[in-house]
Amino acid sequence: MEIIIKKGSIKKLKSIVDELSPYKTAVITNTTLEKLWLDKILDQINAVPIVIPDGEEFKSLETAQQIWKKLIEISFTRRSLIIGLGGGVMTDLAAFAASTFMRGTYLGLIPTTLLAQVDAAIGGKTGVNFEGKNIIGTFYLPNFVLIDPETLKTLPEVEIVNGFGEVVKYGILDSRVYKKLKSFRKIDEELIRECVNVKLRIVEEDLRESGKRRILNLGHTAGHAVEKASNYRVKHGFAVAIGLMASALIAEKVNGFDSGKVEELLDKFSLPKRHSFEPKELLEAMKIDKKAWYGRLVFILPEEIGKVTIREVEEKIVLAVLEAMKN
Ligand code: NAD
Ligand code: MG
Repeated sequence: MEIIIKKGSIKKLKSIVDELSPYKTAVITNTTLEKLWLDKILDQINAVPIVIPDGEEFKSLETAQQIWKKLIEISFTRRSLIIGLGGGVMTDLAAFAASTFMRGTYLGLIPTTLLAQVDAAIGGKTGVNFEGKNIIGTFYLPNFVLIDPETLKTLPEVEIVNGFGEVVKYGILDSRVYKKLKSFRKIDEELIRECVNVKLRIVEEDLRESGKRRILNLGHTAGHAVEKASNYRVKHGFAVAIGLMASALIAEKVNGFDSGKVEELLDKFSLPKRHSFEPKELLEAMKIDKKAWYGRLVFILPEEIGKVTIREVEEKIVLAVLEAMKN
């Protein structure tokens, strides 16, 4: 797997595709990216665009079926290439289609949101929503991931802030990212690369999430609860930010971690630290989370920047923190 992180690299796609020399190429993207970035690709390579409406609700089995049908129509084979162009919705969907069609085609990802560049397109998880989020999916590594920070120029500000929810998470997991964030002025190749490296290091040790990969769920215990309680109106990165604050405050009580370090980063990137839900409701949501441990409250807690531990936390500590964070 090749990961290219470079300004302007989208214009170099042809040489990467030529190297794979696929029988055919299809680009899976949505109506938003179609207008903004698809031409940059079609100018360079011969590919069939498959354009899907914009929205998380289209990350579905129905859409996957439409894609499979289209691939058959154009005589796609296993030696053909699917390119996913867009945010995490497109990269998850394209990767799912690639991993399932004829037991797996070539796959290239061109993530165009900050969240997809540092997270969704990295690590080999694919999926669609079915009954719940990401219930149906596979593990499948792409042949290449091409990350061009230039594509972020067209991304709405709220999506940038959303991506920083996960970037701040990496900053707590890794002291190099933390230092970059402390002196942050603008998104550059190096910041993206540092984040990608944190995720890659962890995923390489544990692709299928039996152990170490779980630390990537820092901030997600309370974060998922906030997303659920809001009926997914609170965006993932914002929910993770609230979850990071919760983890930091719980850690402060449990091991003396300085939660001010997390608070400072959340402020710097205009991320939320408080919520407006019933603490009891959040607690119940945490207990039934698919990643929770059979109703036990397990948190990933920072001990210091760059070091976390996974541990069960008493319900009354969690409740007290959620109360203190309530608007
Ligand atoms: P998204 O894909 O919905 O993109 C957000 C919005 O930005 C969309 O409207 C999109 O069309 C638009 N957009 C994308 N790139 C743009 C650009 N360059 N310019 C202008 N507009 C642009 O959302 P997301 O936050 O990127 O991804 C969320 C999805 O990622 C969820 O489905 C989540 O489950 C998935 N995800 C997967 C993993 C994984 O490991 N596979 C990890 C994290 C998230
Ligand atoms: Mg996440």
